[in-house]
Amino acid sequence: MTATITDRLDEPSTARERGRKKIEWAREHMPILAMLRDDLDFSGQRVGMAMHVEAKTAVLAETLAEAGAEVAITGCNPLSTHDDVSAALDAHDRIASYAERGIDDDTYYAAIDAVIDHDPSLTVDDGGDLVFRIHEEYPALLDSIVGGCEETTTGVTRLRAMAEDGALQYPMFAVNDTPMKRLFDNVHGTGESALANIAMTTNLSFAGKTVVVSGYGDVGRGVAKKAAGQNAHVALTEVDPRRALEAYMEGYDVCPMSEAAARGDVFITTTGNRDVISSEHFEDMKDGALLANAGHFDIEIDLEGLAELAVDSREVRPGVQEYELPDGPRLNVLASGRLVNLAGPLSLGHPAEVMDQSFGIQAVCVRELIQGGGYEAGVHDVPDRLDREVAEIKLAAEGIEIDALSNTQTEYLESWDHGT
Ligand code: NAD
Ligand code: SAH
Repeated sequence: MTATITDRLDEPSTARERGRKKIEWAREHMPILAMLRDDLDFSGQRVGMAMHVEAKTAVLAETLAEAGAEVAITGCNPLSTHDDVSAALDAHDRIASYAERGIDDDTYYAAIDAVIDHDPSLTVDDGGDLVFRIHEEYPALLDSIVGGCEETTTGVTRLRAMAEDGALQYPMFAVNDTPMKRLFDNVHGTGESALANIAMTTNLSFAGKTVVVSGYGDVGRGVAKKAAGQNAHVALTEVDPRRALEAYMEGYDVCPMSEAAARGDVFITTTGNRDVISSEHFEDMKDGALLANAGHFDIEIDLEGLAELAVDSREVRPGVQEYELPDGPRLNVLASGRLVNLAGPLSLGHPAEVMDQSFGIQAVCVRELIQGGGYEAGVHDVPDRLDREVAEIKLAAEGIEIDALSNTQTEYLESWDHGT
């Protein structure tokens, strides 16, 4: 049986205290979860979670536990866990945390298995590793699972592929796809936290540099906009003609990676795809170029291809690995090519306000799965009323009032017989 984090730390009580402080700070800045907390009743439920185990996720886990659920949690990325937060969570009566930073693949999956050993009735996932593991290795559990929620774009894409194949055996809410999540978390959260982490890790400026952003989806839009806001020249690479045109009309240079490779000072991938920057591009790059991934797994930049080309490689700063190419440039890969905003030595992920929105949606989705009932196996859009509910709570928390439609306006908008 895999031990929880407490059994694996030298000084669990000190780590616990540090983690507790971080969680309390996050809690202060997450008013949506605070307002929801009073009305949730998850007694009798067992929630399995695989998410970035960081202070904001801890506030979600504790919200579920304070509503009466038993929670078992582990990380969704081998480098994003904060061990002190994990230890503080593990000290909670109703939470077991198996998350630990810097683990190898076997330990990562052993921790997921340990969460599954708690027989979850609900799953909360980021990237899909928990839900896929249950389907692949623990099919006997599938009937007792009420449903689950998926946090991110690539997780939802994987789930939809699974549903298409008829393989998905319980209902999953696509939390990522709600306006309250993706228009804030993907756009602003990733934009701010990816750039902040690149700047802090390298101690270099964006001003005057050429930043090449790959992918102009929600994440790419945010990264490009914030880079332009820091006075960088921004170039975009895309494979979708409409997204490419959108980027062009926003005023960015749009070109293929084969051209961008020689122009960029900083490269940020945001595609959810693989080999976006690969062996055919590395040798054309400028000496000292920075390569970072803000998309998904550590395959957006072809690190194996880069390692094969390189004659030498060394850590030049914490979180920065330099690869020296023969007679060519020295290239700096940040955070081992994993999510730069979450997996670097200084990374904290998105700001608390943004995660409050995403996790507000997670909390109401868990409530809906328990109380709403009747959802069939497959991927479900989150009902719009839940998204509105979370938006209204956020506006109230910010003290922002908005107008309401009058009856005449509602009737007008619903009618078809009022012409010129
Ligand atoms: P999206 O589908 O809206 O955008 C992805 C874009 O990449 C699309 O426009 C697509 O055409 C483009 N693309 C695909 N292959 C490409 C290639 N080879 N070259 C150039 N462009 C290519 O998705 P999104 O919501 O923007 O999310 C992107 C990725 O970021 C996903 O993997 C998602 O899970 C992840 N994500 C990360 C964070 C984070 O904290 N770092 C936050 C949210 C989402
Ligand atoms: N397992 C995948 C997960 C993709 S991470 C991987 O490691 O590659 C992308 C998700 O991380 C986003 O959808 C966002 O909601 C979430 N995220 C960003 N900052 C976070 C934070 N501080 N705490 C928890 N989750 C965070």
